[in-house]
Amino acid sequence: MAATLGAMMMRGFRVAFVVFGLIGAAFSGGAVSAAPSVQVIYLLPADRQESESYRNAAEFGVRHFQAWLSNALKGPTFRLADPAVRIVRSEKNAAWFRSTDRYTGYSAFYRNTVDELTRMGVVRFNDPASRFLVYVDADHACGQSGAGGNGVAVVSANDLRGLSGERVVPACDRANGAEIPGRCRWIGGIGHEFLHTIGLMHPDRSPVCQTAQCRAEALMMQGYVTYPRAILLDEEKAQILRSPFIESGIRTEARACANAITPLVR
Ligand SMILES: [Zn+2]
Repeated sequence: MAATLGAMMMRGFRVAFVVFGLIGAAFSGGAVSAAPSVQVIYLLPADRQESESYRNAAEFGVRHFQAWLSNALKGPTFRLADPAVRIVRSEKNAAWFRSTDRYTGYSAFYRNTVDELTRMGVVRFNDPASRFLVYVDADHACGQSGAGGNGVAVVSANDLRGLSGERVVPACDRANGAEIPGRCRWIGGIGHEFLHTIGLMHPDRSPVCQTAQCRAEALMMQGYVTYPRAILLDEEKAQILRSPFIESGIRTEARACANAITPLVR
């Protein structure tokens, strides 16, 4: 997946986020804060119908990754919001989310989506109480992609299709290597983006991930495509365990993501 938005962010945006963060902290002062949790958002453009199977598929996928992560970390994982999936309706049509009127480049779909949800008061960057995993029932354009960073991950209609066993629609003329069917790959995708939201980067500069094998297996490189056969590096596990969004004692349920019985992790 594309690099985190954080790495691409212009300096001016960073400053704006800090200011928003301070305002948010002032507003929430005095409130009893719940444990930090992960909120899944199923975002419906105005010209899309709500799908119960999409909602269920998004929840299944995030719960699957919750269990996978617990297994990989030998216990700890993230807490899900209750209810895990929040359905949000936008007044914008699906095509608006891929428009390049205001942003260009691979992150335009991400930025449009975050702008809309921020305007609606649904998400904010780097919220100390929430990480947001947003499923938009809209297709991104060729050259755009899902992305995660600054506490918010955004993925598009193919994620919903893939998780639901529907045919994936390539964004460009031909499918790329990640636009493949199979529920597991799309769970690996949201897992990869979630870890971006808590600060993980691609380990392409890590001395311990310079081999083709590591790059194929690492969840934060290409491993999301072969999930649940994917690995976290030891240094990544250490970073994840430092996140306030990771805690012990969360009950998870390990289920197979493929139709065939497969081990959850190897
Ligand atoms: Zn990535």
